[in-house]
Amino acid sequence: MPCLRCGVCCTEYQPRLSLMEARHIAGEMGVAWEDFLNRYTDQRWPGKDSFLLRQQDGHCVFLEHAEGDNTAGCLIHSFKPSACSGWTPGLHQRECRLGLSSTWGLTASPAGKICGPAEKVRCFQLLLHT
Ligand code: SF4
Repeated sequence: MPCLRCGVCCTEYQPRLSLMEARHIAGEMGVAWEDFLNRYTDQRWPGKDSFLLRQQDGHCVFLEHAEGDNTAGCLIHSFKPSACSGWTPGLHQRECRLGLSSTWGLTASPAGKICGPAEKVRCFQLLLHT
């Protein structure tokens, strides 16, 4: 299943980055290392060899909500942390079920059948096949 673009996992968790990964992201962004640390990492994290991405307005600093609908996307999608790219979306995930409900107004039966108003189910199935 593709990502539902609900932003639930980017709201509930703070990805942890290794030093190498953090330096790679800073480089991809073209941001000086000290600026990256100050602007995008959680200063409360005690680690020196790893970092947590900072939360802002209740979600990851890199999560951007789309205008006009309920979806959200990652501003650093093509080089996001491995903790994020390793996430497997699916209806077995509590977070995806929550996003299905909060973003799409749909639910999933225990067998994985999508339930809700026909028009919404149709839109959702379009997403699944794009
Ligand atoms: S880096 Fe991107 S995918 Fe990872 S939590 Fe932040 S917004 Fe979500």
